[in-house]
Amino acid sequence: MTAAKTPSEIARETLIRLAKSHVPPTPVNYQACYNEIAELPNTAVFPEQPLRHIARELSGHNPEQVRHLRSLDEAIGRRSWQGFEKALVAYIAVGHDHGHGGGSALSPALAAHLAHFVEGVQPVFSDESAPVAGLFADLLAVLRTMPVNEEKLHNLLAEGQDKVRAAVGRQLEVKHSLLKLLHLIIENIGELSLDDHWLKGQIDGLLTVITLPLNLRHLGEMEQRLRDVMARQGGAKDQAVKARQEMRRMLEAFVEHLAMINASSASFQGKVEQSAREIAAVSRFEDLTPLLADLVEATRIMVDETASSRQRLQYLQERVQASEAELVQLHLELDNASAMARHDPLTDALNRKGLDEALTREIADMRRKDTPLSVCLLDIDNFKKINDRLGHDVGDVALVHLARIVRANLRPSDALARYGGEEFVILMPDTDLDGGLKTISRLQHELTKAIFLAGKEKILITFSAGVAQLKADESGAEAIRRADRAMYLAKHAGKNRVMSG
Ligand code: GH3
Ligand code: MG
Ligand code: MG
Repeated sequence: MTAAKTPSEIARETLIRLAKSHVPPTPVNYQACYNEIAELPNTAVFPEQPLRHIARELSGHNPEQVRHLRSLDEAIGRRSWQGFEKALVAYIAVGHDHGHGGGSALSPALAAHLAHFVEGVQPVFSDESAPVAGLFADLLAVLRTMPVNEEKLHNLLAEGQDKVRAAVGRQLEVKHSLLKLLHLIIENIGELSLDDHWLKGQIDGLLTVITLPLNLRHLGEMEQRLRDVMARQGGAKDQAVKARQEMRRMLEAFVEHLAMINASSASFQGKVEQSAREIAAVSRFEDLTPLLADLVEATRIMVDETASSRQRLQYLQERVQASEAELVQLHLELDNASAMARHDPLTDALNRKGLDEALTREIADMRRKDTPLSVCLLDIDNFKKINDRLGHDVGDVALVHLARIVRANLRPSDALARYGGEEFVILMPDTDLDGGLKTISRLQHELTKAIFLAGKEKILITFSAGVAQLKADESGAEAIRRADRAMYLAKHAGKNRVMSG
């Protein structure tokens, strides 16, 4: 340690070191070098003048800011960094809180937020007229220029309000008109296919789906249904065109043959009558010979033509049988096409394919949004008895009744699927196990209130159900299996109840 060095020794050494290292001997350099040699901490000089200058530039927009500016002055006087920092932070914070009242400038953070917001809604108006699009561009320009020109911002917002309101009104109108148009188109498709029950069911389903408020789930369902309808219509059209062509071909062939048969038998008839007349007029036996030869020839031609006619008719008959088989095949294909559809024709609930698709969608949603998803499996109680006592048709109506009551009491985002004969699956997005159990209990209650009439007889339909909330990495099929086991337990515990799986 060189603790013994005197200030004058240190001063001399400082000058030598500055000279050696070619550092100009300014007061700041001298101080730094001196402190180093004296082993003193090299703290920066408190820049009083520049700080005072900054403090003078700041103005108090409210009493609190004025108070903090005073503390700032004091801290500078005391040469206290800590005091300076505290007073400055407090001054800024008060400026934020009272920005509007005091008329201080819009903070850059808030301006950035507003700019983001404007950017977010801008695409909604992208189809709009130039003035509306221009308004958004102007707003963004103002919000992105620091400091924000508040007066300009104010004016833009004031004059933009009416434009935006009018634009929103127009967009709503467009949406309503589009929906009306869609209704019309779908109703028209329905009119064209009155003879097809399956199509009619789909059309009715579509019409109920396109009501406001629209949401993405509904639009998705609508798209799928329309695709199904179009596929079916396409099939039906092909079938009709083919059948018509075939019919025309066969009719032409028949007419042709009828004409031929008619013509040949008419000429044969003529020949026979002529021969009979000539035979009556013949007096010599040898004159009869050529007449007989003519008659034999005419008969032979007649026999040949009849044979070829019979052959052609036989061929036609085979064609008819073949095209009948073709039609049967077409029917089979159409049945397949409807099996490919997503809705059960009786209850209009989703079928297995529709359920699979909805499950895939909801599970992806659940993972993306980190929201719960519950599934319920329900089975009607003692359904066989209803069938046995009142007939299969009444059983069918009971299924339709159940589906209607369930749908009426579910959220629009929930989905109902026919899982098997009298078993249904319900998907409940954004619903945890507890919520699912409550919903299904409520459903059971609603079903007991909605008595089902078979003729004059009041019939109470109940069901047993199991509910399972999907685990993070569980498949839909596994969750349904758990719900199924819980449903089985509910049956064993006395039916008309719901259990968790
Ligand atoms: P449980 O309370 O134990 O469920 O008794 P259940 O009588 O309902 O028994 P189960 O579930 O085994 O019987 C289902 C019956 O549902 C058998 C079948 O004939 C009938 N079924 C299935 N699909 C249909 C349908 O589409 N229409 C009608 N009417 N009946 C159906
Ligand atoms: Mg069953
Ligand atoms: Mg049952």
